[in-house]
Amino acid sequence: MIVFDLGCTNGHKFEGWFGSIEDFENQREVGLVECPICGTTQVEKLLSTFAIKSHRSPKPSEVDPGQALAELCRFLKDNFDDVGSQFAQEALKIHYGVTEKRNIRGVSTVDEEEMLDREGVKFAKIPMPRMPEAASSAFISDNKDWDEEDEE
Ligand SMILES: [Zn+2]
Repeated sequence: MIVFDLGCTNGHKFEGWFGSIEDFENQREVGLVECPICGTTQVEKLLSTFAIKSHRSPKPSEVDPGQALAELCRFLKDNFDDVGSQFAQEALKIHYGVTEKRNIRGVSTVDEEEMLDREGVKFAKIPMPRMPEAASSAFISDNKDWDEEDEE
């Protein structure tokens, strides 16, 4: 006996036991296979879950978001200068060539962000997750506004 995952034209899914695939096809042709929910004989064999899983490569949605964020945090920590609350001032200095161009990270207020926008400074804003490793970073702990805005 083989178990098949079956589905009817009304979207119901159920299982059916048959001696073989031919057995199923024969019974279906003569209308012996019917949906236990609505009784229709318009029934199709669905691909088994196993078959679908084994032929599919992992999708991006299956990546652990926590791990992805942890990696992002590590990258920022290693490659960006932490300027804390001086972020807006430092960004402006870099923009106008007062200091050398480099990667910086820090915190900024809404007013500062609007000012940077007006000055044409390109920056990215990301919500930093709370992680034990980054808990002491100025990025998230030195800015009260940030906490109030993003913590719900
Ligand atoms: Zn049905």
